[in-house]
Amino acid sequence: MAKTLGPVRRKFSPWNDPAAKPLIEFRSVVKRFGDFTAVDDVSLGIYEKEFFALLGPSGCGKTTLMRMLAGFEHPSEGSILLAGTDLEGKQPYERPVNMMFQSYALFPHMTVEKNIGFGLVMDKMPKADIETRVAEMLKLTKLEKFAKRKPHQLSGGQRQRVALARSLAKRPKVLLLDEPLGALDKKLREETQFELMDLQQQLGMTFLIVTHDQEEAMTVADRIAVMDHGKLIQVAGPSEIYERPNSRYVADFIGDINIVEGRVAAIEGTTIRIEASSPAVSLVVEDDEPTTLGATVWVAVRPEKVRIAHDAPADASINAVQGTVWDIAYVGDVSIYHVKIDGGGATIRATVANVSRTVERPIGWEDRVWLSWARSSGVVLTS
Ligand code: ATP
Repeated sequence: MAKTLGPVRRKFSPWNDPAAKPLIEFRSVVKRFGDFTAVDDVSLGIYEKEFFALLGPSGCGKTTLMRMLAGFEHPSEGSILLAGTDLEGKQPYERPVNMMFQSYALFPHMTVEKNIGFGLVMDKMPKADIETRVAEMLKLTKLEKFAKRKPHQLSGGQRQRVALARSLAKRPKVLLLDEPLGALDKKLREETQFELMDLQQQLGMTFLIVTHDQEEAMTVADRIAVMDHGKLIQVAGPSEIYERPNSRYVADFIGDINIVEGRVAAIEGTTIRIEASSPAVSLVVEDDEPTTLGATVWVAVRPEKVRIAHDAPADASINAVQGTVWDIAYVGDVSIYHVKIDGGGATIRATVANVSRTVERPIGWEDRVWLSWARSSGVVLTS
């Protein structure tokens, strides 16, 4: 794996540079199928060398957005530009974009090397150049040993790499990956995610991936667009999406989160006090989210930021609730405590890292516990 991956990715943020121009631009794109709107007024810029993920539940319009970029569908409204040129009217094969499909779509009767070189043969590339390029792709995707095999003689992971090699062979400017790792088991999927990131860096290409797996998007992508019903809900880097979701939808979609509804009772600078009724608790959050006194808002706190203890915290007057342990889920690296809060039906979850190898559970079922969290741990959501 390239040693440069971390530093390169850390420094990469052209979207924060007002002078940088996106490579791909969706401008107010709408796609209707009959009277159903699959993509609803999407404006989005994707930068050269970016690894961009479209994330959202099944049917939210991810694939449709990607298919319009590839030229398999046409926008009902709006336009799509690549390097400043409107793509309308350009056939899929005229676009410097290649799409790797969910199903891989390999030719069963062709060997691995013939599959990889197929597009180059169609393009009438000289034979010697095809051989060189195919050899390069086999090496890149670690498939040299399998060059003469046919797809049915390969594992799912190997087939996935053949499909990847084939879509990379033509050196497209942009590679579109539609659920590329969907057929792989969890472990292979995780390994392949790193291989993909490494490949993308080595080739200096722009990758757009469609996935409904939030962990996958968080792992591979420089930025993620979270979609719902054809709309972009939030576009940001993985840590921002996780730490500063802009809505209950995003907060809930990415990872596990506790959400408590309340009313804004006081605002002093970035300190917001919220009175919640279920559970009845005073919450104080450090957040610069604009709110107004009396407004209904939601406070979201990740379970790993909730302290769970038998004893009350030093200040139990804010961000602290008492309850009874209702369930404990042991999931290997962490235990998740589900705590029923006193005086109502609310349940709050706290996760505790299992750092010790001995299976000790100082807090058990039906224990009375205190849950508390820091002012900086909560996020105020207004929608
Ligand atoms: P998945 O993760 O299940 O692939 P997705 O987010 O990629 O979902 P799309 O394939 O973009 O979703 O589909 C968005 C919506 O548009 C769906 O409700 C789908 O049924 C609808 N749709 C897609 N293609 C067509 C079509 N050719 N005709 C009619 N409706 C379509």
